[in-house]
Amino acid sequence: MQVIDNIPALRQMRAQINGRLGVVPTMGALHAGHLSLVEAARAENDAVLVTIFVNPTQFAANEDLAAYPRDLPRDLDLLREVGVDIVFTPTPDLMYPPGYQTYIDVEQVSQGLEGARRPGHFRGVATVVAKLFNLTQPTVAYFGQKDAQQVAVIRQMVRDLNFPLEIAVCPTMREPDGLAMSSRNVYLNAEQRRAASVLYRALQNAGDIYAAGERDPEVLRRAIFDTLRTEPLAAPDYVSIADARTLQELTQPSDAPMLVSLTVGIGKTHLLDNFILPAELNDRVGLSRVLGG
Ligand code: AMP
Repeated sequence: MQVIDNIPALRQMRAQINGRLGVVPTMGALHAGHLSLVEAARAENDAVLVTIFVNPTQFAANEDLAAYPRDLPRDLDLLREVGVDIVFTPTPDLMYPPGYQTYIDVEQVSQGLEGARRPGHFRGVATVVAKLFNLTQPTVAYFGQKDAQQVAVIRQMVRDLNFPLEIAVCPTMREPDGLAMSSRNVYLNAEQRRAASVLYRALQNAGDIYAAGERDPEVLRRAIFDTLRTEPLAAPDYVSIADARTLQELTQPSDAPMLVSLTVGIGKTHLLDNFILPAELNDRVGLSRVLGG
C-alpha cells in the first residue's frame, strides 16, 4: 500500500494504474461503514484508492474542525488489512494553498436539510470532491447512503460538470442497536450513546407505518417526533419527509419514493440518519436508481 501526500507522486501513481480505479473519499477516523465502501470498491475494480482529508471548507466557524477525531496510523492499519493500493493524505495547505479562490455551488439540492442547518457545508463538500476527482480520476467513486443529501449534491455536480465517472452508493452500516456508524459517535458518553439509538427506532417506526399503508408525510413526521420525544436527551434539529429524487419536502400523500431524514442533537453532538421508503430501496442500488444517472 502506497501512502502519498503530494500531487506529483499521486499523478505518477495514477498514470501507472491500468483498468478500473475505485476511489473512496473519507475524512479518516475510519469505521466499518467506511470499510464497507472500500470492500465494494475492491470487489468492483482493479485498484482502490482511499483519500483521507478532514476538509476545512465544509466546517462552519462554530463547528468541530479542530476536535474532529484523527488517527492516521490506525486508519492506515485498517486500510492495509482490507487491501487498498493507494492512500492519499493531503494537508489543508496542499488542497487550499495561499491565494486559493475557486468554489463549487450546487444550487437547489444543497439548500434544504443539512444545507439549511450547516450553511456553506455543501459548497465545501462539492469543492473538495471535485478537486479529489480531478486529482485521482476515478472510474467509480464510492459514497455512503448515510449522507444521502451529499450523494444527491455530488451526483448533480457530476452531471452538471460532466465528470467522466460513476457514483456508487453503499448502504448505511449500523451498530447492533441500529445507531448509524459515524466518526462522531466517539463524542458520546455512555448515557448519550444509549440515548442515540432513538434515531433508528424513530426511522423504524416511520417504516412500519409506511409498510402498513400510510402515505401522508404529516402522519409519518408526527410518528417520528413521537418516538424522539420518548428520549429526554434527544433534541431534534429537523425531521424531513422529502421526495427522494428531488429532496423537496412533501406536504401531500405520495407513492413516489420518500427520503426520511433527521438530525438530532444529543448533548453537543448532532447525529444524522435516514431511511428510504419503501424499505427495499435501502440497498446497494436503491438510492442510485431513485436519483438516476
Ligand atoms: P466521512 O469520513 O464521514 O466523510 O465519510 C466518508 C464516506 O463514508 C462518506 O461517503 C459517508 O457517507 C460514508 N459513511 C459514513 N458513515 C457510514 C456508514 N455508517 N455506513 C456507510 N457509509 C458511511
